[in-house]
Parts: sequence; structure tokens; C-alpha cells
Amino acid sequence: MSTLEIKNLHVSVETNDGPKPILRGVDLTIGSGEIHAIMGPNGSGKSTLAYSIAGHPKYTVTDGEVLLDGENVLEMSVDERARAGLFLAMQYPVEVPGVTVSNFLRTAKTAITGEAPALRKWVGDVKDAMHQLRMDPEFAQRDVNHGFSGGEKKRHEILQMELLQPKFAVLDETDSGLDVDALRIVSEGVNRVHEATGLGVMLITHYTRILKYIKPDFVHVFVDGRVADQGGPELADRLEDEGYDRYLTATV
Ligand code: ADP
Ligand code: MG
Ligand code: MG
Repeated sequence: MSTLEIKNLHVSVETNDGPKPILRGVDLTIGSGEIHAIMGPNGSGKSTLAYSIAGHPKYTVTDGEVLLDGENVLEMSVDERARAGLFLAMQYPVEVPGVTVSNFLRTAKTAITGEAPALRKWVGDVKDAMHQLRMDPEFAQRDVNHGFSGGEKKRHEILQMELLQPKFAVLDETDSGLDVDALRIVSEGVNRVHEATGLGVMLITHYTRILKYIKPDFVHVFVDGRVADQGGPELADRLEDEGYDRYLTATV
């Protein structure tokens, strides 16, 4: 049983006019095997939370902590975060020219476990995972993110997650740009890893659409850099009906 604890997190983003405070005291704890949906209007700070956990250099933590099984994540390098068991799929994944998906995945796996996976087994694992995600085997020979469609990027993210076997995954807008079929396949991938390994999931989304496929245990509503409300899955149903207006008028 692992826990990812976010305590009183305050984060500023670097802008041309200097640091701008975005997160204003976020408290959130995720246990192994739990799926938490982070919902909220555009600009409420959801991606800032994801980038802060990922260690993106533009985001400065000014107060609070992020702990993975009691270890201070904020003091870790980006690589150390991955080795500690965090998987951070970003909203805009980068291109890695000249590096194939296959090599990228094996390098990442080696970096995380400390030794290169046995080749024969690894090739089989990659093949199986790609098959589950209905990916063309030739995809493994393409350069990472080069010319990937929105759906290919998302499948590639989930493929990484499936192969790297993290303790916690932070998935930011995994549903954006996916048609219904791709959304279902990607969601099934998340559910499969969650069920097989007890992965804890922070599922960041503006829309309730993906929650039809990935059932959250808890829902947190982000407004203005804070958790304004939380509840069970019924809260997502309510947001589907009512939107975020109630929270927005309440903060004026
Ligand atoms: P969300 O993901 O909920 O839509 P974000 O975390 O992306 O929200 O953004 C929260 C706020 O921070 C917004 O007002 C946004 O304009 C601002 N912000 C985020 N990143 C930057 C940045 N790199 N430069 C300037 N402002 C930013
Ligand atoms: Mg579950
Ligand atoms: Mg965002």
C-alpha cells in the first residue's frame, strides 16, 4: 500500500511579469488502487498541479509538500520521481527525434528498474501491450511523438504506463482529442493497469466524458487553485448536469 500525499501545496508559475501564484493550498491524498478525478474549469490550476508533481522547471513550489510513501518528491530530480514510481503523462508530450518508440521504452524501463530488461521477454511484453491497445506493431519503429496524431500520443502514453508499472499515474486531459473508440481503448488500458497492479490514478479532466469509462472512487473540484469541493462519483454526475457555475459564482 502506497500513498501520494499533497499537502498545502502553493505553486507560482514564471511569467514575463514575474512569478504568478496559481495553486493556493492544495490538499489531496491518493492511495494505491484508488482513482481520483480532478475536475474544474479551464484555468483553475489542474495542469499546474500535474506539472508541479512532475517537476517542470517553470513551476515553483512556494509552500507545502508532495510525499510519496513519506519521501519528499519535490527534492527529487525528474528521473528520481519516475524511479520512485510516479508516472506523469503530460498534456503536450515532447518529440524525441531519432529515437524510436521501442528504444525509448526500453531506455525508460532500464532507467527505472536499474537494469536492462531481458530482450526476448521485453519484446514480447511490448508486443502484448501494443496489441491490447490495438496499436500497429510498426508503431514501435517510429520516432517518439514525431507526427503522432492526438490518439497515437495518448496510446503511446498508456503504453509507457503499462510497461513501466508505476505506483501512481498523473494523467492530464488524457481524453482530449480522442474519438470515442480511442477513448475507450485508452480507458481500458488505464483500467487494466489499475486492476492488475493496484495503480493509483490522478485523472485530470475538464469534461465528465472519460469518467464513463474510468470510474473514479473520489472526485475533487478545482477552482482558483484550490480544492473547492470533493465527493464520490455522484459529484461527477452532478457536474455533468450543472457544470461549474455554482462554484464560480460562489467565489466572486
Ligand atoms: P487548467 O489546467 O485547470 O486549465 P492551468 O494550470 O493550465 O489550468 O492554468 C492555471 C492558470 O495559470 C491560468 O490562469 C493560466 O493562464 C496560468 N498559467 C499556467 N501556466 C502558465 C505559464 N506558463 N505562463 C503564464 N501563465 C500560466
Ligand atoms: Mg477501482
Ligand atoms: Mg490543463
